[in-house]
Amino acid sequence: MRTIIEPFRIKTVEPIYFNTKEQRARILENAFYNPFLIHSQDVLIDLLTDSGTSAMSSNQWAGIMKGDESYAGSPSFFHFSNTIQEITGMPFIIPTHQGRAAERILFEIMGGKGKYFVSNTLFDTTRANIEFSGAEGVDLICEEGRHPGIPADFKGNMDTAALEKFIIDKGAHTIPLVIITVTNNSGGGQPVSMQNIKEVRKICTQHQIPLFIDACRFAENAWFIKLREEGYAHKPIPEIVHELFSYADGCTMSAKKDAFANIGGFLAMHSEALALQCRNLLIITEGFPTYGGLAGRDLEAIAIGLKEVMEENYLQYRIRSIEYLTEKLVAAGVPVMRPGGGHAVYLDAKEFLPHIPVDQYPGQALACALYEEGGIRSVEIGSLMFGKYDSQEKLIPATLELVRLAIPRRVYTQSHIDYVAEVVIDVFKNRNLMQGLAIIEEAPALRHFTVKLKPIN
Ligand SMILES: *Cc1c(COP(=O)(O)O)cnc(C)c1O
Repeated sequence: MRTIIEPFRIKTVEPIYFNTKEQRARILENAFYNPFLIHSQDVLIDLLTDSGTSAMSSNQWAGIMKGDESYAGSPSFFHFSNTIQEITGMPFIIPTHQGRAAERILFEIMGGKGKYFVSNTLFDTTRANIEFSGAEGVDLICEEGRHPGIPADFKGNMDTAALEKFIIDKGAHTIPLVIITVTNNSGGGQPVSMQNIKEVRKICTQHQIPLFIDACRFAENAWFIKLREEGYAHKPIPEIVHELFSYADGCTMSAKKDAFANIGGFLAMHSEALALQCRNLLIITEGFPTYGGLAGRDLEAIAIGLKEVMEENYLQYRIRSIEYLTEKLVAAGVPVMRPGGGHAVYLDAKEFLPHIPVDQYPGQALACALYEEGGIRSVEIGSLMFGKYDSQEKLIPATLELVRLAIPRRVYTQSHIDYVAEVVIDVFKNRNLMQGLAIIEEAPALRHFTVKLKPIN
């Protein structure tokens, strides 16, 4: 088989500013060993996130020029809303400035003390919005999803037996929603099978609990279903996507992911009553229901991006580029989550750095080493992001200690990815010299964004 090429040509370029390892060591120190605090111009390859970092197409840029900025009833809103109705089959579409704004509105209405939101794995902003409402978020990931090194087709699946047990234990009335995240971002960008979504739907219907999809990577998930699930190999992606959404009562979406937009999001749902409540909140904090905190041009870019993301040449290239990096790292013995996820490669920091205890944040230490060695910015997804303290102020660690190398959409070429593999492998060779980190300052919620650390010793 021939090389799968990037299915685009490059019309506009942005410079990468080079620096030396010595300079980067100083930059890291000044950023308190938190990659979020590094200036992006000091980064060579920025794999911090795939969120809002996509390259837009010439069609999307043309849409930006055509965007209609009317306060109410803009044609750009109807383009946006019709596109999402067509893709999801859901009639009520509410634009928001990004995914977490959709979450904030939804959980302010449905959340509250004594309630549980049950998921395969909640993303960090989703969990934070649930907890901010006073409710609790519960992750019920399938057994395969707990073992980063062991390959399986659908490691993002929900444990349906655990879901049934949880509903019976707590009572359906305490569970306002079940939420399936596709693909499972915090669980390694791993896909959820159609079969699993169907089973969850059945359980939800039995107990009269609505099912929502956190749809940020719906197209990447659909590609995995096409590749790996029986009966889908010959189905067009929009058909698979449509089926996936057909099992849900609603969805939240960040258009900064599978819509190739730099900003935006939405809520979509079947319930008119819920949509009314959501719109009432939207008007207070986001904007009028036909723009919801977005410019008309953003609505255009999102509408166009949502169609482009379902093109098969794109999805084949996208998923293959993640697999390509995964294969190179596996061949060098680097512990990574397998198989590759949809938008990112996840290094298993616990295995990478067995000599660094979890309360010294091995994932963060690894992320810092990748920056110092090669100017690669990544993010820890482990005990720094998800750790809690017990009553004795002792760390309750996360299940996994991962470092995510998120690949922005349509931004980097194969030689950039080759360089990333070389840097990771060099760090791996010198891993025994690496040290852990200690926190010197942290915020009460989403601490990883602003936390300050220092090396131990
Ligand atoms: C990014 C993301 C969100 C939040 O969206 P923002 O646009 O960043 O607010 C929610 N869920 C998942 C799975 C995500 O990846």
